[in-house]
Amino acid sequence: MNSKKIFRNYQDYVMPTYSTTPLVLARGKGINVWDDKGKKYLDFFPGWAVSGIWHCHPLVVSAIKKQADKLIHVSNNYYHEGQGKLAEEIIRHSFPGKVFFCNSGAEANEGAIKLARKFGNPARNEIITMERSFHGRTITTVTATGQKKFQKGFEPLPAGFVNIPFNDIDALKKAVTPKTVAIMMEPIQGEGGVNVADAKYLAKVRQLCDEKNILLIFDEVQSGMGRTGKIFSYQNLGVVPDVMTLAKSLGGGFPIGAFVASNKVADVLHAGTHGTTFGGSPLACAASLATFEAIKKEKMLKNATVMGAYLLKRLGELKKKHSVIREVRGVALMAGVELNIEGPTGPWSAPVDGKKIYEECLKRGLLINCTQGNVLRIMPPIIVKKKEINQAMQILDQVLAVHGK
Ligand SMILES: *Cc1c(COP(=O)(O)O)cnc(C)c1O
Repeated sequence: MNSKKIFRNYQDYVMPTYSTTPLVLARGKGINVWDDKGKKYLDFFPGWAVSGIWHCHPLVVSAIKKQADKLIHVSNNYYHEGQGKLAEEIIRHSFPGKVFFCNSGAEANEGAIKLARKFGNPARNEIITMERSFHGRTITTVTATGQKKFQKGFEPLPAGFVNIPFNDIDALKKAVTPKTVAIMMEPIQGEGGVNVADAKYLAKVRQLCDEKNILLIFDEVQSGMGRTGKIFSYQNLGVVPDVMTLAKSLGGGFPIGAFVASNKVADVLHAGTHGTTFGGSPLACAASLATFEAIKKEKMLKNATVMGAYLLKRLGELKKKHSVIREVRGVALMAGVELNIEGPTGPWSAPVDGKKIYEECLKRGLLINCTQGNVLRIMPPIIVKKKEINQAMQILDQVLAVHGK
C-alpha cells in the first residue's frame, strides 16, 4: 500500500485525535526505524519511551513468540505462572508490597486513585496533584493531570482533586486538609517539560505524608524501567512512595501497565473492588519478564547512567554554542532541552514553536519530541551507544545552527 493510501485511510476512518507527522513507519530494529520508502531514522524518542530497550529487542521478540504459541490469554480468575513471577520481579526491584496489572498508564493511575479513595473514604477523599503533570486521558486521570488544555470540554470533571505548583513545599502544606488522602506526582515530569523533583522537597513531602497518614503516589509510567540509571527514578531521589504506577516501557514495547502498593495498603483493594479483563495476561507478562531479563543481562542500568551523563554533557555543550537553548535538564537518559521560545496555548501539546526543530531533525533522520511547545525531549533507548549519541548531537547541532534563531 502506498503512503498516500495509508494517509487516506486515516483521514477517512481514524479519529483525528493525534497531531501526526506524515511519516509511515514500517519496520524497527534496535535504535532504528525505517519508513515505508526504506529511509532509516535514529530513534531518540522510541514510541513515547515505550520501546525503551530498543525496537524489537530479540529477547522480547522471542519471549512473545514462545508464549503466543502456548497461551495468549486467560481470565484473572485463574492462575498462570507469568503474572506471579512478574509481580515478584517488580517487588524485588522496588519496595515490599503487591502489584495489580492493567494495560496502560492511565489505567494504572486510575487504579492507584481508586486504591487511595478506598483507603481514605469516607473521611478522606481528596488527592493533591501537581501543575504540569500528566497522568492519562480518562476522565479521572485527566482531572488529576495539572494542565487545563487536556481537560477543556470534558466537564463536569470528578471532584476530589487539588492542583498545586510542583517542587513547592509551602504550596503543598497549604493545600493539605483533613480530607487529603494522597499526593500524586511524577518524580520527573515528562510531558510537562522534563521537570525533576528536588530531593530535599521530596524528603519533606515524605515526612508530611508520614505525619498525616497520607499516601504518596509516584507516577513512574514514563520515568521508570531504567531510563534514569535506576530501575525506578525515585531510587535516585532518596524517597520511597506508598504507591507506584508503571506502563510505557514495562513490556519492552508490548502494552502492559501496573500499580504497586506497599504492604500497608496492598490489601485495600480486596476481591470484587477492582479488576480488568486483559490485565497481566500471559503474553504481556512474558514480554515484561523478558524486558527485565534484558535489562539485567545487558547491564542497561549502568549503560543508562554512563550514557546519560554523556548525553547531558553533550547537550550542555550545545547550550554553550546555541543561544536558543535556555536550559538543559533531566536525569540520565530522560533529557529535556528548553528553548528560548514561548510555549503554545493550543489544545494539544504537539510541537508548535519548537516544531521547526523537530521537523528539521526528522528530515535529517533523527526522531525526537517537542513538548509544551518549547522543550525538546530526548529519550533514547537505554542501551544507546556513544556513537549513536554523537550522531544525534551532530544532527541537532546542525539543525540549531540553521533554524535555532
Ligand atoms: C504516558 C503517561 C501516562 C499515560 O499512559 P497511557 O498508557 O497513555 O495511558 C501517564 N503518566 C505518565 C507520566 C505518562 O508519561
